[in-house]
Amino acid sequence: MNARHTKTAPHPAALPCPCGGYVVTAAPAPGEQHAVPSPGTVRLPASPAARSQAPGKTQGRILYGNCCARLIESGEIPVNAEQLMRSRYTAYVLERFDYLRETWDPATCPADLGSEPGPQWLGLDVRRHEPLDDRHALVEFVARYKVGGRAHRLQELSRFVRGEDGRWRYVDGQISDR
Ligand SMILES: [Zn+2]
Repeated sequence: MNARHTKTAPHPAALPCPCGGYVVTAAPAPGEQHAVPSPGTVRLPASPAARSQAPGKTQGRILYGNCCARLIESGEIPVNAEQLMRSRYTAYVLERFDYLRETWDPATCPADLGSEPGPQWLGLDVRRHEPLDDRHALVEFVARYKVGGRAHRLQELSRFVRGEDGRWRYVDGQISDR
């Protein structure tokens, strides 16, 4: 094989995170140490229009290495259900079924997770994050994907619970057909 003619894909860490997370670049809040905000601690507005209206701030696509990789690869714990939801979408894109299983309520996690090839995921749009109490939250999202050249749209209202260990887990979701 001739290395010069081999197309090497860029490392995923250097690509925009599949979850579509945006960094809101703003002066760090008092007491905030990190230059790179923790994914999910920054409110990620749902629509591009809302993002462009964030006053006095510039936004950029957050790289996988600074976003979901911190949860999927480095074992950081998601701070809320939305962050977990985003990282789970990314795990679907990257086929990290180990992470999906880890973050799925054992009572509802399918035994055959990952046994079939998944669709080609095109994008995620988180519409709503609704903390119900310390242990329960809802996240509504739209995910777009392609199967056999045809584009589909999945709109789901997902339920998340936080266990005794402090970790959020996906329970189940209600899919709305449209
Ligand atoms: Zn991400």
